Amino acid sequence: MALIIYRRHARSCSKGYEQNARTFPPRTSKEIKADCECPIVCSGTTPSQPKALRHLSLDTSNWDVARSLIKRLQSGKLAADPDPQEKGVTVDQAIARYLKKKGPSGENISNATLRKHQVMLLDRIAPFCKDRGIQLISAFDDAAVVEECFLSFKNLNANHNKRSDTLMDKPLGDRTRAKELDRYRSFVRYCKELGWLKHAHATNKNVIKPPSVKPSPKYGLEPLEELQIWDALELVTNRGQMDQYNSKELRALVMVMRYTGLRISDAVVLNHAQLVPRESGHGYAIKIMSMQKTDDWVRIPITLETAQALHTLKFKGEKNGHKFWFYTGNGERDTAITNWRERVDKLLKLAQRPPYKPFLHHATPQTLRHTFAISALNNGADIKMVSRWLGHSNTKITEAHYSHAIRATHIASEQAYDQMMARQQLFSS
Ligand SMILES: [Zn+2]
Repeated sequence: MALIIYRRHARSCSKGYEQNARTFPPRTSKEIKADCECPIVCSGTTPSQPKALRHLSLDTSNWDVARSLIKRLQSGKLAADPDPQEKGVTVDQAIARYLKKKGPSGENISNATLRKHQVMLLDRIAPFCKDRGIQLISAFDDAAVVEECFLSFKNLNANHNKRSDTLMDKPLGDRTRAKELDRYRSFVRYCKELGWLKHAHATNKNVIKPPSVKPSPKYGLEPLEELQIWDALELVTNRGQMDQYNSKELRALVMVMRYTGLRISDAVVLNHAQLVPRESGHGYAIKIMSMQKTDDWVRIPITLETAQALHTLKFKGEKNGHKFWFYTGNGERDTAITNWRERVDKLLKLAQRPPYKPFLHHATPQTLRHTFAISALNNGADIKMVSRWLGHSNTKITEAHYSHAIRATHIASEQAYDQMMARQQLFSS
């Protein structure tokens, strides 16, 4: 297979294409009119790249530039390097290119995630390189440098997300270290894809041993606790409490999260095009991109009641032809998500006020997602499907989070086994 080029649409696509949807070079005038400025990427293999490239950013939105770049890629002439005269790509250039790819003109990841990449690249890797006098990114073709750099990652002082010059001599916690390793690997892999590095040592388990992180079990709501939440919603509606926002909206949002397991960040920006018929054609489902990496759409069934709650809501805003229920379409979506998170938190508190009992486990908006997952598993939904619905990359994560719930299905299965055997004995005797 050779290389193919296509636009991979960003979240903020000016023509309103779905995020990660792809379109190919336009041929007709109609296609030219529908063309946008999203990044052009390529996928496939080249003679010098036996492993297939996937969505490799060409760092351009111009088809002609993209075409000439992949010609160079195909001829093995180290392609996407913006300046062929350069002796080598510096660490600073590599970091800038990578952040551009992640930023608003590229993948347009959320501000919070972008900041995490910035912390790793600008506050961990860049100072490391400065200390050692490393200028060219090619230094990372030395496995020892790759390992040493990763080991140099320390806790940053004060707000650990905020950039700071003061370092504390405290190692990262296992959980943070595992996440940083993911980001580190992604950066190194990018440099290799662009031909700046020959090896992606960071992805080699013998070079950097990934910290073993045991995901903690996640707890949902007990049935009575759920009732407390619906009661609290009534209370909010009747008393006009928290009237700076619409309680009907809050109710619909809570229903979406409870009955589809959507993260609040996905639920808040839900748009009308995501409400679709089910696979069976009967009833409704919510369509969601399962994982950015797999480009897969997943349909999560929703209850008729939830679909109705959405249908009876007025749209709050519109952007690029997408109508939103919980988001105006203007302004930062992160801000909208933060505001909604506060409202749901407030509701959860209200649901635990006397005469009601406090919940058994600490509750956050995520608790609704866990409640969905656990009730699906407890009622015999296939863990493979539940895992897809939740957008987990594999069922191991689902099992780690909800093994306590899976135990319940084991017991239910054993009971079903006993009943089945009892029935069969009846026939054989
Ligand atoms: Zn686009």
